[in-house]
Amino acid sequence: MTDLFSAGDLRRMLSRLRDVMAGAGAVQGRLDKVVALIAEGLRADVCSCYVMRAGEVLELFATFGLAQKAVHQTRLRVGEGLVGEIAAHARPLALADAWSHPQFVYRPETGEDFFRSLMGAPLVQAGRVIGVLVVQTREERPFNDWEVETLETVAMVIAELMAATQVVKREELFQSEGNALLHVRLSGASLNPGVGIGVAVMHKPHVRIGRLVSDDPVAEQHRLQDALDALRREVDALIDGSRDESEGYGDILEVYRMFADDRGWISRISEAISSGLTAEAAVQKVHDDTHVRITQANDPILRERLQDLEDLANRLLNILAGGGLRVELPDNAILVCRSIGPTELLDYDRRKLKGLVMEEGSPTMHAAVVAKALDIPVLAQVHGALSRIDSLDLIVLDANAEQIVLRPSDEIIELYTAAIDARTKQKAAYAAIRDLPAVTRDGVRVSISINAGLLIDMQGLVDCNADGIGLYRTEMPFLAMPTLPDVKAQYALYKQVIEGAKGKPVTFRTLDVGGDKIAASSFSGPEDNPAMGWRSIRLTLDRPALLRQQLRAMIKATEGEVLRVMFPMVASVAEFDAARRIFDLEMERHLRDGGRSPKSVSVGTMLEVPALLWQMELLVTRTDFISLGTNDLMQFMFAADRGNTRLAHRYDTLSPPVLKVIRDVVGQCAAAKVEFSVCGEMAGVPLDALALVALGCRNLSMSAPAVGPVRAIIRSAVLAEVEPFILDLLRAGDPSVRERIRAFTQDRGISVD
Ligand code: PEP
Ligand code: MG
Repeated sequence: MTDLFSAGDLRRMLSRLRDVMAGAGAVQGRLDKVVALIAEGLRADVCSCYVMRAGEVLELFATFGLAQKAVHQTRLRVGEGLVGEIAAHARPLALADAWSHPQFVYRPETGEDFFRSLMGAPLVQAGRVIGVLVVQTREERPFNDWEVETLETVAMVIAELMAATQVVKREELFQSEGNALLHVRLSGASLNPGVGIGVAVMHKPHVRIGRLVSDDPVAEQHRLQDALDALRREVDALIDGSRDESEGYGDILEVYRMFADDRGWISRISEAISSGLTAEAAVQKVHDDTHVRITQANDPILRERLQDLEDLANRLLNILAGGGLRVELPDNAILVCRSIGPTELLDYDRRKLKGLVMEEGSPTMHAAVVAKALDIPVLAQVHGALSRIDSLDLIVLDANAEQIVLRPSDEIIELYTAAIDARTKQKAAYAAIRDLPAVTRDGVRVSISINAGLLIDMQGLVDCNADGIGLYRTEMPFLAMPTLPDVKAQYALYKQVIEGAKGKPVTFRTLDVGGDKIAASSFSGPEDNPAMGWRSIRLTLDRPALLRQQLRAMIKATEGEVLRVMFPMVASVAEFDAARRIFDLEMERHLRDGGRSPKSVSVGTMLEVPALLWQMELLVTRTDFISLGTNDLMQFMFAADRGNTRLAHRYDTLSPPVLKVIRDVVGQCAAAKVEFSVCGEMAGVPLDALALVALGCRNLSMSAPAVGPVRAIIRSAVLAEVEPFILDLLRAGDPSVRERIRAFTQDRGISVD
């Protein structure tokens, strides 16, 4: 393999490989020819093909150059040796001197004593590693990027051909464990709570590509262009559709349109066509590369963008394959997939969708956001979901208990059916009080707002008839877009939010990037401790242009309306003052330029950093309102990472120190006549919400699904009874007073979800 090896050579080699694989004879014989062809084509001394067998073992299946007696004898576990390393990480490896690599293991039966350099690429099919293709040379030879790329292209073609000829039967790879009739439990991580029962529908069965290699790259480039045009039309139609339904997926879908026009992505597909692949094979190759990059990306924002690109690649593949791949759902369907894009999820009939199970997935992925809005239970990170679940398997998905039960017994089905019925009744009960105020039985009114962050969330405001949006997290477009949205784009978005709220107040929070939201690395480098790093107001005060643009867009979007702005992660009064000064400057500028003023203006702060607790005296003289962010305040008070599930039960929000802090802050705000609200998760947990009301909180903001249960508990309590009980608990020595509060509500017949 030298510089003399051109795109034309590669095309010729791919054609020959295709002909050999399509030819007659046993699979073994064809693979033997294939490895010889590759060794010759790539001018290597050795070419070997390892195939994944049951139990995650890679077996030497065919070789040119190594000892033939090793074929079907040499086996390596995934992760063992260089071949195992390539399979484990699903990425290529190129070593001028393989022997000096720490992972190298010597297998005497192969006779590989004479070969120094090694280059290998994974054989990936439908997102799974099904083998490894390796070439070796006698002399120490550094491989260049083009050579690695070439081997990857060859590997991609071989993988598809192997799958088509079923070199290893799927049943062997994915043997069901134990007695297939017994039910099996698989655990995962809940991305949206809820319970669903239904039959498994595999999302997007792998598109079998009929033609992999083409001798006419020009015609393939035309096919790609036509398919891209169709893709753009599809995404535009989805955007228009979402507008009609006023469900507001617009902000996510707009990002898609941007990707569909992404030059880098399109040119990678186009390059793969030039190297001899058909348009669909080229899309598949870029798709596979993307998948490998997704699984390796540590940066969550990057992972999500790559996932979105994968979604688009799937669409493109369907268009090229002639469409018709849309799966019709049975009435009760549990969708099973490796991962899914938001537009793909929206393609399904949501009335028939009872749940979503994913092998991968993260809480901030776009599909999870859509699933939440559609109220579909989601369980992610279910290892082995694709291999162990078969189409039409009956599944109970219990996202609350973070598990699925495969092939459940009649008793299990009965149990869950009863739970679903009870839940349906409860929802009906919440719907019945939808238009009633959250007022205690002794007449104390509590305002309940929702937390939102996407246009899609605006529907929640209508559904649960909340009093407003107590926290609008503005980071979403910053998370989703490849470039930072400008003032115009932000203005358009905030305007839609204000219009969607139909006169109800909206509290916009300025950019809260960093921490668990978005790696601040998008702005700087990676940080050791991002939750306590350069995030939120710290970042925007250091980059005031970001803050100014955001405030400018908010001010313009709220002309003649109520304008409420708050700053996140404020740690000192000085920081609040600095942010407020920037706000005042932007307001002056807006008015000077002839802009209309908002109906009213309130500028407030989140209370999330403990240090602020000891600056309350000064703070209440400056701020118009304070909103308590319990999620962050708790993680800093207890020094317990909010994203670490192992710590989730180590401390309780219903504990004397927390309740005391809240009582004090409520008192200080009341004395200074400064509006106080709670917008962290605590406000949306019924027992916690009751305790907050007892401590004097009169404004709560929570996720939309929490509104019904919280409204119900408030409406069924007598504050004059609850208040002294809770205040008495402040003196308790227990780390948690939750059970005591629960027992109290049960005694008094207070409605707890
Ligand atoms: C909080 O920290 O409680 C809060 C509401 O903000 P976020 O969850 O967005 O950090
Ligand atoms: Mg916070």
